[in-house]
Amino acid sequence: MNIEEGVMLYNNAPVEELMFVANKLRQLHNPGNTVGWMIDRNVNITNICFSQCSFCNFCRKKGSSDAYITSTEEYISKIDELFSLGGDQLLLQGGMNPELGLNFYIGLFKNLKRLYPSLKLHALGPPEIAYLAKKEGLSYSQVLSDLTEAGLDSLPGAGAEILSDRVRRIVSPAKATTEEWLGVMREAHKLNLPTSATMMFGHVETVSERIEHLIRIRDLQAEKYDNHFGFITFIPWPFQDEGTVLLKRHGVKSSYNGPDYLRTIAISRILLNNIKNIQASILTVGREIGMMSLHAGANDLGSIMIEENVVSAAGASNRFNANEMQSIIKEAGFVPGRRNQKYELI
Ligand code: SF4
Repeated sequence: MNIEEGVMLYNNAPVEELMFVANKLRQLHNPGNTVGWMIDRNVNITNICFSQCSFCNFCRKKGSSDAYITSTEEYISKIDELFSLGGDQLLLQGGMNPELGLNFYIGLFKNLKRLYPSLKLHALGPPEIAYLAKKEGLSYSQVLSDLTEAGLDSLPGAGAEILSDRVRRIVSPAKATTEEWLGVMREAHKLNLPTSATMMFGHVETVSERIEHLIRIRDLQAEKYDNHFGFITFIPWPFQDEGTVLLKRHGVKSSYNGPDYLRTIAISRILLNNIKNIQASILTVGREIGMMSLHAGANDLGSIMIEENVVSAAGASNRFNANEMQSIIKEAGFVPGRRNQKYELI
């Protein structure tokens, strides 16, 4: 499917027909009735970030009274709690703190793996890798290899927003460009590092740019070696506008609504014919639309995400514990399957 065909489908197809087709395709990729979910914990390495994306309420400038870099003691108490709740993965995210170089992250990952050898690190994202490569004068591949050797297990698809430089110049001008984001992922796929892809939509992008984003992801996935992980999953989530610069200064409200989310999930499943898993972002869309997404091509509801700071700072208020997550999946007519980051059932 090309951009024109995707836009035509997006603008004209009834949502129930898209859901029907997407559900059939979900059965081709993931036959049966299982819906994946997992337990992990989001920890932010620091909230100091030079990027100052206009949709982000989380970042602070250096010197702010509430700026921080997470200490080893804090990691220990957070990881102990994660293990006590049955999880074993940290989603480690930025800010992009200009004072932290590659050696800081290598030291951090090594230290966490030394303290907790079974801990899985799903950490950083293409913008951080591109930034570190520039800062250290190294290739993406070298930065990724060094971090993997230090303990990185998989690379989140963070910072994709919309892969169009027109959009990125408005919402995240200091962050990786479209080509940089894709370039980092290309190298990660060559190194067989499991990755995910995301899309944050419903702000300044056009339908055409939303479809183009999907096509860029699909085309990159088509480049990977057959026996390599590539993008294991695709996760679209809507812009949360509360208190953001994008809303306050530019008047950009989130265009999110339930039917549009279902349409986007279904189109993602239809268009991304080479990505096995489509995850609905229950943290941002909530219980009902999360459940309906499972009938629109999604086969996963993601993590119960102990401690999430970035989207919740912009208004996402949905929180579920492990029991609630499983009953949501059952109520939607499916069987919960707890999984790891590689989407293997555990
Ligand atoms: S979204 Fe991430 S990169 Fe952008 S300002 Fe916030 S912390 Fe920094």
